Amino acid sequence: MPTKSKIPEGYNKDITIATIGSHTALQILKGAKDEGFATLVICTEKNRQVYERFNSADDMEIVKDYKDILSEKFQKKLLEKNVVLIPHGSFVEYVGAKNIEKKLAVPMFGNKGTLDWESDRKKAKVWLTDAGVKAPREFKDPKDIKDLVIVKFPGAKGGRGYFTTFCEEDFSDNLKLCKNPQEYTIQEYVVGTRFYPHYFYSPLTDKVELLSMDIRYESNADGLARTAGQTDVEPTFTVTGNTPVVVRESLLPKILEMGDAVVKSSKKLFAPGLIGPFCIETICKDDLEFVAFEISARIVAGTNLYVQGSPYSQLIYDEPMSTGRRIAREIKIAQNKRMLDRIIY
Ligand code: ATP
Repeated sequence: MPTKSKIPEGYNKDITIATIGSHTALQILKGAKDEGFATLVICTEKNRQVYERFNSADDMEIVKDYKDILSEKFQKKLLEKNVVLIPHGSFVEYVGAKNIEKKLAVPMFGNKGTLDWESDRKKAKVWLTDAGVKAPREFKDPKDIKDLVIVKFPGAKGGRGYFTTFCEEDFSDNLKLCKNPQEYTIQEYVVGTRFYPHYFYSPLTDKVELLSMDIRYESNADGLARTAGQTDVEPTFTVTGNTPVVVRESLLPKILEMGDAVVKSSKKLFAPGLIGPFCIETICKDDLEFVAFEISARIVAGTNLYVQGSPYSQLIYDEPMSTGRRIAREIKIAQNKRMLDRIIY
């Protein structure tokens, strides 16, 4: 069902940009400041020092639990400050995609309906397939495992708990060690170079911009490459950091086409579709074909590399343009053109 935008009076004049203190908050808040907005960070006592020491926001709200933002009292406080919330990975994880869609009355940048499509692996696959983006093969029956596969669990977040295996027997042995062995996805392990391109779709210009790109650094899969096979430690995929990357220029057409295709498909699957930042998580094989194993329909942590802009954003903008700042820029343009209802839901 299409989500409906409802912008309270007052938002056309003053807006406070707010987010949860985690993930990409430093970049989002800096971008908002650079665009002239008032800023607010919502964080726990534990994380407060990060946002204080980096001087990141004009205002701070401390919560015990991030779900506290759903309370009527807290939402009222945010509405009084004309807050626009910016969702990010931890925001979706801590508050929950369904809660954001159903219980959050505070305006949020983007289409709230998108979050469910990206956080549900089955739906994300429908989306990528509809867009004509190649996905890894999946195997329903462990008997069909004939080559290296990666086994994924719901809500693993950052690849924690995934394992790789190459036959049914080893699969069963590994599964016994898992905490939640019921719901798994067995996926072909695609060998190649990982690229995580960061896009931004503006409904105001109807353009998809490629702002930057990264590769996630994962423990211990990336560390194992340094051991030259001198250990039996199994690879795991816990994200620990991000490294910058650019693709060879001849691959850019494919990367741009993938971005355009998922935006087009999103409008069909969940109108008004994707709004703002997104990332297609891909592996480029040696035949130079891209396989996408995941889509994130919000700002991703790899964009933190580019607070001052990236080799790509510098070609589009003659000023430092992070994804966080690009979000704030979109809000500013929409506010000036009285088109906030196109980007805030
Ligand atoms: P997040 O939700 O934080 O984006 P996640 O828990 O959904 O992450 P994935 O992004 O699906 O995890 O995968 C984690 C990592 O596992 C990837 O970054 C990649 O290194 C590896 N990986 C995932 N799928 C494949 C695949 N099919 N072939 C090879 N490697 C893969």
